[in-house]
Amino acid sequence: MQLTDLNWPAVHALSKDTPVVFPVAALEQHGHHMPLFTDSMLLGEIVRRSAGRLGDRVLWAPLMWLGNSDHHLDFAGTLSAAPRVYLDLLNGLVENFLQHGFKRFVFVNGHGGNDVPGRQATFELRQRHRNRSDLLLLFATYWSLGGEPWKTEPSLQQRQMGHACEWETSMMLRLNPQLVGELKKLQTVESGHNLEPAVRAWITKERTVPGHIGSPQLATAEKGEALFQTFTDDVVKLLERVIGWDGKSWR
Ligand SMILES: [Zn+2]
Repeated sequence: MQLTDLNWPAVHALSKDTPVVFPVAALEQHGHHMPLFTDSMLLGEIVRRSAGRLGDRVLWAPLMWLGNSDHHLDFAGTLSAAPRVYLDLLNGLVENFLQHGFKRFVFVNGHGGNDVPGRQATFELRQRHRNRSDLLLLFATYWSLGGEPWKTEPSLQQRQMGHACEWETSMMLRLNPQLVGELKKLQTVESGHNLEPAVRAWITKERTVPGHIGSPQLATAEKGEALFQTFTDDVVKLLERVIGWDGKSWR
């Protein structure tokens, strides 16, 4: 069920236990070979597939394409909501729907830079509404929901999401191959750093010259289809758990 297609009395009439999903992505550099709108296009496809399976059990807000991408601003074309602006934006979206009476909220995220402010926003919301015992506030990044796509597609080499990498490039080859540039000359950019397990603050240009992190030269459309299937399954499973939540308990 798409919020964009409903009129206000129809929204008013919905069960307020209907989960409200805010897909959040970005518009930022994705190396020499991928379009700036990569994260929004890939998440849009996962949303499209998931929405088709969940029908009218979930209310989908339109995808928020502006993300927190300040760490990519050294690369031309990137648009970003600065971290504190982005925190207020996410808080505000949920506050709007609290006003409309809804109680179950899920941010489904398709961009790494949204992760820290997204978690922060959900914790701020919970603390601000500490008198409520009927709220569910979730932030979920689609590639971090437990899926192991290499089990269905053993040719996948990466074991985690990078940036404009084997995984993202494969999905774009599946979705919009005409937007993918030359891959043959691209080389792997490793993602690790030598001070793990500490969390080290970073900006993108200190980790990669071309802009990608990972191995885009290994991408294929077949891998992309396997990735879309795994990630869609994970999002649908999560939202079915949200639908099945009893409305009050921690478990
Ligand atoms: Zn991306």
